[in-house]
Amino acid sequence: MPIAIIDPADGTLIREYPPHTDAEVADRIATAHTAHLALRDTDFATRAAWMHRAADLLEAEADQVAATIAQEMGKPLAQARAEAVKSANAMRFYADRAEGFLSGGRLDDPSAVGAAEAYTLYQPLGVVLAVMPWNYPIWQVMRFAAPALMAGNTGLLKHASNVPASAMYLDGLFARAGFPAGSFRTLLIPASGVEAVLRDPRVRAVTLTGSEPAGRSVAAIAGDEVKPVVLELGGSDPFLVMPSADLDRAVATAVTARTSNNGQACINAKRFIVHTDIHDAFLERFTAAMAALRVGHPTAPGTDVGPLAGEQARDELSALVDDALAKGATATTGGAAADGPGWYYPPTVLTGLTPQMRLYAEEAFGPVAAVYRADDVDDALRIANDTSFGLSSALWSQDAAEQEHVIARLEAGAVFVNGMSASYPELPFGGIKDSGVGRELSADGIRAFCNLKTVWRA
Ligand code: NAP
Repeated sequence: MPIAIIDPADGTLIREYPPHTDAEVADRIATAHTAHLALRDTDFATRAAWMHRAADLLEAEADQVAATIAQEMGKPLAQARAEAVKSANAMRFYADRAEGFLSGGRLDDPSAVGAAEAYTLYQPLGVVLAVMPWNYPIWQVMRFAAPALMAGNTGLLKHASNVPASAMYLDGLFARAGFPAGSFRTLLIPASGVEAVLRDPRVRAVTLTGSEPAGRSVAAIAGDEVKPVVLELGGSDPFLVMPSADLDRAVATAVTARTSNNGQACINAKRFIVHTDIHDAFLERFTAAMAALRVGHPTAPGTDVGPLAGEQARDELSALVDDALAKGATATTGGAAADGPGWYYPPTVLTGLTPQMRLYAEEAFGPVAAVYRADDVDDALRIANDTSFGLSSALWSQDAAEQEHVIARLEAGAVFVNGMSASYPELPFGGIKDSGVGRELSADGIRAFCNLKTVWRA
């Protein structure tokens, strides 16, 4: 795949970026290592001041950043701007909390281990490689970069090949804010260049957000190198609606949960599992609301859903829907790619899905909702858990006992009750099963790339 901006709204090539040469990559690894040696000796207050400055820069430049995101991957402008602001807030969160998160612990009774003093320290590992996706070009990177740099690690970013302008914006951001040169650098390299970087002994860990095949490949190399790895992979999140739910709110939220980010978020709700008593009412209202969304250019005011990020993304989504329709599913709205330039796909609602259809098992990365009818709450749980993924989930029910029953049994990294899945700096984020390993955000996210050092002193 060339490293290039191709406008998803019309398919035109905007700009191609030459990949970094081997010598340039080697230089960036070396300077990231040197920067780590400097950064680990700075105190939290100094790092926090730089991080706040970087957050202020990003927020001040949010309009320009949003325009870049919209052009590179088709996100509606208002959502792109919100992404930049959210990223800046996560930077401030870690600037203010890192020291507390990494303060370690002290044994109350050190004599139990024969010591005068025993405690733990969280220390940075060194250079961390981040392999990142295009769907949130700033946010995905920042939820790694902010905690990593605050811990005293340095970062090398291999961003998705279709978002080079976002990647190069991030390349300069931290140095402009005062971090030592080389603290955070972008590597303009293809996916095939990741292995050599990860095998460099100065690179101490890797985090990958992206598809399951990419995760498996990078984790295999990390395993071979005995390097820590965090994987945030795909999802096919269930959204359960039970009879006690507030149906108006559930429907409105379901639409946003399926279509935000043009339906290309890992934690978009993708499977809507509805109790039989309210299934038909839900389907009717959900279909009407999905059909009413405005599909349009990402920069046009009022656009709810922009184009998909690329031709391949659009074709893969079309193939999933075509397969389901050919095997007997029904589209209550949408169901076929739009004509004309750009990679548009209409909001689509499908029913009558069976395990023989690809869509039953695979992730639909676009505005395509699969609606299932469940006999009762345990049938809903059965359908929800009948997936290789386990990222997030949502439950709509006003019955407290039913809520506890479902929370305890959903196989997912998170459950949102009477709301939609979202990421917050304050809360751990990540999945189980094929959705990944490890957690980002919260205290867990910053500790992921630290050495928990035990100190025993006689
Ligand atoms: P992708 O094709 O896996 O790409 C992600 C990144 O991995 C890109 O930088 C890509 O580089 C690189 N890559 C691909 N194959 C690789 C390999 N074999 N070795 C090393 N690097 C490799 O995924 P995507 O299409 O950009 O993103 C969509 C997927 O990400 C969806 O499945 C979505 O659910 C998931 N996602 C998960 C989360 C989460 O937090 N769990 C968040 C967002 C997205 P190139 O671009 O150069 O190929």
